[in-house]
Amino acid sequence: MQPPTPEADDTVKIPRGITPRASLPAGPPAGAPPAVRGPKRRQFLMPLLAGTGLLVPAALAGAWFGFKSRGGGNTLITLTEAQIDASAPCATVVSAFALDRAVVVIDFPDLATQGLTLDRVAALIEKAHLPRNRVLTDAELVQAIRSSGDTIESYYYGHDYQAADLAKFFHLAALQNIRLNPHEMWLHALLARLGWLAPGVCGAIITIPAASAVIAPDMRAVILHHEISHGAFYTDAVYRSYAESFWYSLTDSDRAAFTGFLGRQGYDTTDTELMLNETQAYLVFTRDPRFFNAAAVGMTEADIARLRAAFIANMPDFWLRPLANAVLPPGAPPNPACRTIPAAPANFASIAPPQPACRICAAARPRLACA
Ligand SMILES: [Zn+2]
Repeated sequence: MQPPTPEADDTVKIPRGITPRASLPAGPPAGAPPAVRGPKRRQFLMPLLAGTGLLVPAALAGAWFGFKSRGGGNTLITLTEAQIDASAPCATVVSAFALDRAVVVIDFPDLATQGLTLDRVAALIEKAHLPRNRVLTDAELVQAIRSSGDTIESYYYGHDYQAADLAKFFHLAALQNIRLNPHEMWLHALLARLGWLAPGVCGAIITIPAASAVIAPDMRAVILHHEISHGAFYTDAVYRSYAESFWYSLTDSDRAAFTGFLGRQGYDTTDTELMLNETQAYLVFTRDPRFFNAAAVGMTEADIARLRAAFIANMPDFWLRPLANAVLPPGAPPNPACRTIPAAPANFASIAPPQPACRICAAARPRLACA
């Protein structure tokens, strides 16, 4: 999800244009145009990448995989959307989503850690005008982020990837001998523990940042809700097919409107699956004008209401459907105790590969493990 932008702009691509935490207001001003990019933070990115070694102890020592022994095997803890919304963890928390354990949620303590872990993946998988067949070097990633007017923190406010795309990223990085940063290596270790680096795995990672001066608590809840819909898209073949059929039921004009909106957010508009995936997430599961509204796609509120109602009316009857009209909670404020409470250490040695879990994997299509 992209940060909201002023001109009209996943997942909760969170709105574009996150400004420096210290100088940002708690959130976009009331009534601000949707998808608005805030003032751009022209920070010096290279030191942030180069200095990740300094952050490693925090990332590794601070990461909490939340595994616990169950029935003879170690599995991720399970958290509901409400439990995540109500939490304000000081360290990275990894959990299985309660309504579909094939969706793994990474709850990062800050935008910088999230960005250092996943911005390079975003560049490979879905950012516009970047190569889809090779991983960017540090210098190229810094340039790509700068060129988009973003910072490591604002490149995305929330991320979502299917297991196959994450495996592709690490496969290409190894082939290219790309020197990954410690946060990315942490992600690699997590995926290895999950067993997700092997082919044919059904699963999705979705991520959210902690509430902060940039991410108001209610925005964090919106981002999570948006990302959960992506999780369903990746792991439920019936739902993905439905989203595809909805996309092709739109008029050329409506598809162009959503494609234009997503292009302004920095998404690769040549990727049709990305377009229709983001359309379902923004249209139905991002009911917050700071991230999405009718003006952002050049439509009327009545147009959006009609499309949204049509989508929901014919949605497959599974766990995601009730979430379409769910009222989100205000969210938990930033946890002041995080400044003083040291993060719990991760204990990789104790983490055994969890059992694969996907109710629809048996119906796998060639293109997507979950399809
Ligand atoms: Zn999205």
